[in-house]
Amino acid sequence: MNNPKPMSPPDAWQALLGQLELQLNRATFDTWVKGAQLLAYEDGTFIVSVRNAYVKAWLEKRLYSTIRRTLADLFGRTIEVRFAVYDPLEEVRDLGPLWEDGRFEEEPLQAEAGPGLDSQLNPRYTFDDFVVGGSNQLAHAAAMAVAENPGGAYNPLFVYGDVGLGKTHLLHAIGNACREQGLRVVYVTSEQFTNELVEAIRTQETNAFREHYRTVDVLLVDDIQFIAGKDSTQSEFFHTFNALHSTNRQLVLASDRRPRAMATLEERLRSRFEWGLIVDIQPPDLEMRMAILTEKADQYGYDLPESVAGVLAQQIRGNIRELEGVLTQILAQSRLIHQPLSEELVRRVLREYRAPRKVHTVDDVLEVTAVYHGMTVDDLLGPRRTKKIALARQEAMYLARESTEASLPQIGAALGGRDHTTVMHGYNKIIELLETDEELRQEIKQLRLRLFDDEA
Ligand code: ADP
Ligand code: MG
Repeated sequence: MNNPKPMSPPDAWQALLGQLELQLNRATFDTWVKGAQLLAYEDGTFIVSVRNAYVKAWLEKRLYSTIRRTLADLFGRTIEVRFAVYDPLEEVRDLGPLWEDGRFEEEPLQAEAGPGLDSQLNPRYTFDDFVVGGSNQLAHAAAMAVAENPGGAYNPLFVYGDVGLGKTHLLHAIGNACREQGLRVVYVTSEQFTNELVEAIRTQETNAFREHYRTVDVLLVDDIQFIAGKDSTQSEFFHTFNALHSTNRQLVLASDRRPRAMATLEERLRSRFEWGLIVDIQPPDLEMRMAILTEKADQYGYDLPESVAGVLAQQIRGNIRELEGVLTQILAQSRLIHQPLSEELVRRVLREYRAPRKVHTVDDVLEVTAVYHGMTVDDLLGPRRTKKIALARQEAMYLARESTEASLPQIGAALGGRDHTTVMHGYNKIIELLETDEELRQEIKQLRLRLFDDEA
């Protein structure tokens, strides 16, 4: 890279996070990267704070090279990264300029100090953003009560329901609200808890692990169903639970099923999970689905017409995450093709959403093309060059390139050992003809329909 744009270390760090979010799957990003914070920039090295030794070790082992490569791609030079377990007592150092020539302004990092730095809370999941309706009213009210009076209302609060219905959102909302009151909040999935425990045992740091979890004001444990059947985790969590509960610290647990339905859950844990309040979340009804869509669109700055919300809410009956996913696609499409949010647009996106593209092979394409034209696959593979066969062959090249993962040389090979330039030529030929030839357009459409026979 020749001309790096002025960029402060915090901006550079944000840019890196953005890239990593694109590259990594969501679970990896959320678990390991999201909580990391830039502490300092010294001598060409990012010093990054992470919440504990386990996360540090994981990042060093698994993500170090990805992060360095991404930094090099982004900034065209080598930037080192060092991970450190954050010590709240240590002052955040001033950040030096990211580039040696000093053209870039220094900008001291605004680090959040005090409780919460390691809480792993997603600031976007708040009560304000949570749409309330009949299906989640009780869970919402209970969560609000807990947030207003942590340790004093329902303890533990146990929320259960199917995937994508807002359990995690509610946990974070409680956490964010408690954190604003200055409480020390920790959010963890039961899998994270398990992994950290295993690692703590391996590295003989169980004291630090216990200290970490038994001294919080609010402990939010997500997907608690996964501790069932894991003996040492259950035992450890049992003691964590007791330590917190006996000192009136708040516990909130989320699960995909009620405690009684957790078959391999230890009895002593089951009974404790039932000490407080158990609430469930049900799938949203039509009205609520519409309300959620409208609210979400509004958050993105879009005014979603009621008719459009209606069509969508009627078609997507599953969970809220799915609603969100389809809505995001529709908003993106609308922006991309500069078309208003119409019912037509929604129907089109829904059609694609419903019929995920199958993975086809070149052989599928050859088969479909041959049958359509009343030929044999061998006709397509062979040397004959009658007009009809030559055109069908080019259609196959076009379709193979459009609807399979095969490369040009692979398509050529599958087409009787033809050169990849021949395939390229055939492909371009069809593109050219499609501009003007209505009959060919119809043919290709028919071929596609047969190939994607589940597409409406
Ligand atoms: P769960 O943990 O139950 O699987 P999540 O809390 O992850 O579900 O919710 C899935 C997505 O749907 C999240 O993006 C969340 O913000 C959103 N969501 C769920 N319920 C609501 C709601 N009542 N209002 C607004 N958004 C919601
Ligand atoms: Mg969840």
